Amino acid sequence: MEINLKFLGAAQNVTGSRYYLESNNTRLLVDCGLYQEREFRSRNWEPFLIPPHTIDVVLLTHAHLDHCGLLPKLVREGFEGKIYCTAATSDIAEIMLLDSAKLQEEDAKFKRKRHEREGRRGPFPETPLYTIDDAKASLPLFSSVPYKQPIQVGNGVKATFYEAGHVFGSSMIKVSVSRGGEERTIIFSGDVGRWNKPILRDPTVFNEADYVLIESTYGDRLHEDSEDIGNNLAQIINSTLDAGGNIVVPSFAFERAQEILYYLNELLTEGRIPQLMVFLDSPMAVRITDVFARHPKLYDEEMSELVHLDRSPFDFPGLEMVRTVDESKAINYIKGTAMIIAGSGMCTGGRIKHHLVTNISRPESTILFVGYQAVGTLGREIVDGAKEVRILGQHYPVRAKIAQIPGFSAHADRDELFKWISSMKSAPKQVFVTHGESEAAQSFSVFLRGKTGWDISVPDYREEVVLQ
Ligand SMILES: [Zn+2]
Repeated sequence: MEINLKFLGAAQNVTGSRYYLESNNTRLLVDCGLYQEREFRSRNWEPFLIPPHTIDVVLLTHAHLDHCGLLPKLVREGFEGKIYCTAATSDIAEIMLLDSAKLQEEDAKFKRKRHEREGRRGPFPETPLYTIDDAKASLPLFSSVPYKQPIQVGNGVKATFYEAGHVFGSSMIKVSVSRGGEERTIIFSGDVGRWNKPILRDPTVFNEADYVLIESTYGDRLHEDSEDIGNNLAQIINSTLDAGGNIVVPSFAFERAQEILYYLNELLTEGRIPQLMVFLDSPMAVRITDVFARHPKLYDEEMSELVHLDRSPFDFPGLEMVRTVDESKAINYIKGTAMIIAGSGMCTGGRIKHHLVTNISRPESTILFVGYQAVGTLGREIVDGAKEVRILGQHYPVRAKIAQIPGFSAHADRDELFKWISSMKSAPKQVFVTHGESEAAQSFSVFLRGKTGWDISVPDYREEVVLQ
């Protein structure tokens, strides 16, 4: 038995997930993600280390861009096989990839103009990494698979998808390779989700595997208690209602937006907040919410019960799904308190900027952050306490209340990762700690080795191992 495994991304960093596995003349990729950290973005432009036309299939864990965002480039450069994922992942990936392609095109245009003006050249080509047409060309290759049903992906190679509890449609993937009466199983954790998250079912746990790749985004940290999310949210909404301002929530379109709607619906039902106008002002979030509504079989018990009782969090009194620009502009003229959920999540673009312009200098309004704000973004500036910010070319004093609710996270923390992997009844031959910054991955591997005594390693970018 010989299985080759290559770590082509998310190895000692968080984004650009891509693992290559070759056995029995079958060549497959697990994920083909975009690098998003500034220091690694140049890798998006490098030629693929494995010629795309030689790859038979792609197994896709979920629709976040750091897992699927390089697929249009893979297809443009010759990949012709199937991209297997769940139906929900396929639907959401379509929205994400088309949006990403649009941003790539806009970005290239903007850079070209700026470089012309400044008479210089940038480090990357001023052509888009891929275009909307490239993204469209990748869509027919998507092939949806149900959870827990093994599919044959090559000679003696099977793949089975399992619920990951990370985002809607997300999967962990078990690859089984058999040859000469022997079988080896390799589990790719994808992004490990969390127990008791709204809407989603819990992550699947496994009793055995020969090899495990485990993510470690929060491998050196523990999350704050998510029990407090509802309390915090109720308190912020009620105090802003008293003050007579609006609550402006920058949010990612996928998962976080739907999760906030879930909590709002719950608070309303429990009578902990009065009915108020809630605008989901992001065409992308609205489309993704439609995908959630189309796949009720993926809901956890509580969510299924809500839908059954006609109390869906995607359709409660006061909730408006905003699609057009005119509808979005009309929000400015509404009297009384409204909650406005808009993208982008870190205030780097999108409709949120217009709502910040209207609200950030109003002491009665609240800007509520529900997600991580990366260094260098407008969101981070506001969270860090800037007295004045520049939005759409104009300066505005920050007078609104700035609030943050911790506890929202789609990733397992150190103890949850341990809970997931310690369900193994016997030691895997080897565990590879991936998808974490070097420090987090190393720290988690030390922690895990200390707890289990297992053989654990933290592979490097481009490292190749032979699994026996
Ligand atoms: Zn993810």
